[in-house]
Amino acid sequence: MFWNKKDRGVAFVHPDKCEGCGKCVKICRNQVLNIVMYENEKRAIANHTNRCSGCGKCTVVCPQRAVEIIL
Ligand code: SF4
Ligand code: SF4
Repeated sequence: MFWNKKDRGVAFVHPDKCEGCGKCVKICRNQVLNIVMYENEKRAIANHTNRCSGCGKCTVVCPQRAVEIIL
């Protein structure tokens, strides 16, 4: 089965909502997300969106609803 990356979108983390728990990083099989330090606090960032399939698992697991799939 084929999917079109542009149709499904890619992950984007809202830094104002993220609390840096790392759950999204762990669940992603494509290693799209990473934890970085932002103003001395941990934040997730989707810095490898070229590998994102748009599967949405990271959005489901996030307790803060901080991850969004954007086109
Ligand atoms: S949508 Fe899927 S592939 Fe993309 S970052 Fe989230 S878990 Fe990873
Ligand atoms: S699961 Fe949500 S709160 Fe936790 S690091 Fe990822 S985006 Fe941030």
